[in-house]
Amino acid sequence: MVNFKLTDEQKALQNKAKKFAEEEIIPIIHKYDEKEEFPMELAQKAFDVGLMNVRLPKKYGGKGLGLFEEVLIVEEICAGCVGIGTSINVNSLGFEPILIAGDEYQKDRYLKPLSKKLSFISFALSETVAGSDVAGIQCTAERKGNYYIINGNKFWITNAWIADTFVVFAKTGKDRKSKKHLSAFIVEKNWDGVKVAPPMKKLGLRTSPTSAINFKNVKVPIENRLGKEGDGFQIAMKTFAVSRPAIGAFGVGLAKAALKYSIEYANKRKAFTISIGNFQLIQRLIARITLGIETARLITYKASLAIDEGNPDPILSSCAKLAGSEIAVEASKTAIQIYGGRGYLSMNPVSKLYSDAKVLEIYEGTTQIQEVIIGNSVLNGLYKL
Ligand SMILES: Cc1cc2nc3c(=O)[nH]c(=O)nc-3n(C[C@H](O)[C@H](O)[C@H](O)COP(=O)(O)OP(=O)(O)OC[C@H]3O[C@@H](n4cnc5c(N)ncnc54)[C@H](O)[C@@H]3O)c2cc1C
Repeated sequence: MVNFKLTDEQKALQNKAKKFAEEEIIPIIHKYDEKEEFPMELAQKAFDVGLMNVRLPKKYGGKGLGLFEEVLIVEEICAGCVGIGTSINVNSLGFEPILIAGDEYQKDRYLKPLSKKLSFISFALSETVAGSDVAGIQCTAERKGNYYIINGNKFWITNAWIADTFVVFAKTGKDRKSKKHLSAFIVEKNWDGVKVAPPMKKLGLRTSPTSAINFKNVKVPIENRLGKEGDGFQIAMKTFAVSRPAIGAFGVGLAKAALKYSIEYANKRKAFTISIGNFQLIQRLIARITLGIETARLITYKASLAIDEGNPDPILSSCAKLAGSEIAVEASKTAIQIYGGRGYLSMNPVSKLYSDAKVLEIYEGTTQIQEVIIGNSVLNGLYKL
């Protein structure tokens, strides 16, 4: 039988995340958003109540839960704020390459501390010269005996400012066509030659710090290379196949917040002597957001369960990211429309939703890249009709 009936444990986790968003995030997040500041106190609370790193295996001190549980949590957190949702969940993107390709030494050294105290690990792939074009990155790692020497820059790296550790992708070969020219390394922030720039000013996602990193002759021991030399591209692609459903859930959470504000306002605001919710054109807007939330959530659940069952499906993962990000942008735009002129004022919550939503169509692979992955894979027979 097909159903998404949650277990009591899953319901409890979902409720805990919802309560956290309602009681801890929503009342204070606008202050951090205005100051463009990361709410460390909220991250600490989220860590303390067990809403971070839930997929870390028990062997490394974690809860050993699945992506499905992570998705249930982040949907609720992102209904509170997608910036804090991004920053407390990006460890999942950072530690995934270690789960995929790490050896016991690496897992022990870098995963265990994440479950012991609040700490952050960033995923450092993008550069000013290459975001979508992963194979085009220019950062280099040159082998010298038992070390690699890393040189180059990374850009737009979530949490780099507050992280202790980075998973860094760099070129170890010259032939980009081979897709074997990239390797992945675990790099510690306090090593000589690592420099993180202060967080950048952004259109939205202002509660999540995004920074550039410079690597100048950084000496990385060979035991910090993930997998074999040349495995980097595959590690990055496998990581995205696992991480993208969570972005779908971020979008569903944000869209849910937009729907909640839209319902409240449509029932309250009067025009032409009646509540605007009585107008069928407004009802259509509400219906469309509801449809988008339901469909994006279903794909997100399906994609994450496939991963938990050991059958990650990049088509489904990209569909989840695409559907979730699209409904987030659409729902927040609609919420502003329903609010009318008030929606355009930054004192109302819907304008923050709109500026936050846009990033979901950009990071972890743009909308166009998801479409290319889906279209190309389906045309090559990878979709079961
Ligand atoms: C707030 C924020 C946080 C981020 N966090 C991280 C992080 O933690 N780690 C990290 O590594 N990166 C991170 N990124 C970077 C992000 O993943 C990239 O910005 C994204 O992948 C797009 O790359 P780009 O900016 O170089 O755009 P480009 O790749 O230059 O794309 C520009 C435009 O061209 C389109 N395009 C490109 N190639 C194709 C194609 N083949 N077909 C059709 N259209 C195409 C794109 O869709 C886009 O519209 C973050 C970005 C932001 C904004």
